Amino acid sequence: MTELEAAVQEIAAEMAARPDRGEVASYISELAGVDPGAFGIVVIDADGNAVAGGDADTPFSIQSVSKVFTLTLALGMVGDLLWRRVGREPSGNPFNSIVQLERERGVPRNPFINAGAIAVTDVILSGHQPREALGEILRFLQFLAQDDTIYVDRAVAESEKRTGFRNIALANYMKSFGVIANPVDFTLGVYFHHCAIAMTCRQLAMAGRYLAHSGRIPSTGSSVVSPERARRINALMLTCGHYDGSGEFAYRVGLPGKSGVGGGILAVAPGRASIAVWSPGLDANGNSHLGRIALEKLARRMGWSIFGTE
Ligand code: GLN
Repeated sequence: MTELEAAVQEIAAEMAARPDRGEVASYISELAGVDPGAFGIVVIDADGNAVAGGDADTPFSIQSVSKVFTLTLALGMVGDLLWRRVGREPSGNPFNSIVQLERERGVPRNPFINAGAIAVTDVILSGHQPREALGEILRFLQFLAQDDTIYVDRAVAESEKRTGFRNIALANYMKSFGVIANPVDFTLGVYFHHCAIAMTCRQLAMAGRYLAHSGRIPSTGSSVVSPERARRINALMLTCGHYDGSGEFAYRVGLPGKSGVGGGILAVAPGRASIAVWSPGLDANGNSHLGRIALEKLARRMGWSIFGTE
């Protein structure tokens, strides 16, 4: 057994046994019923070996982890023009906060808070029908993960739409400043549906490989983004990927990561590994409680940090 295999097995066993699990998100009613006892982890190393532990093959709602992939797509479509619509600074506020939008003329702080991700989705939607835009996002994930079975969980999307008052408010507020180009309903429809994509840890770790390997997928040699763009997406994940918990995540884990309220986290150890963890219980910032702890243990044990090599 390799050191990595031993680490993953031990962490999965420890996480499964821990009593402290956080609170499952309940503001999206469809997510409230998810088993808080679940824990999964998959690490894919530079040679393409997947090391899995726990519930590695159970699909979960990726929620805001989708925002990494929509950012990648939008940058591919409009390049740096994207930064006219969304900023690159940590918000220091909850993921669904509206407070900074007034001061900053409707331009959201970064692409990973809800307002920013809605603006990014609007860019992807422009020139397309909502159905096409969603298809584009889904196919991108299927391509990255090399898995056509990845799907949109319509029940989650509908459930989020029913109670998405805050996101509806954010989108309308941005629209009033001209930051949203398309009909608000269309943009939100695509946003709710891409948040409702269901993936397993194995699929998510596969999808994140390009970020760990300078924009390329090592096993196929295909280039997804330039090395510079991969570095920049990683920088945003580090500074903004965990909302108001981003500083703490960087301090404890030391790797770029993006969380979602479904309890998933995609983390990137540049040059080494793409890592997906899932545990549905959340901390006060809406980030997976055990997911973060598992990543902290893994990164420490393997000596993976972007801040030093030993
Ligand atoms: N779809 C969720 C929302 O808009 C995403 C939030 C999250 O994962 N942090 O509220």
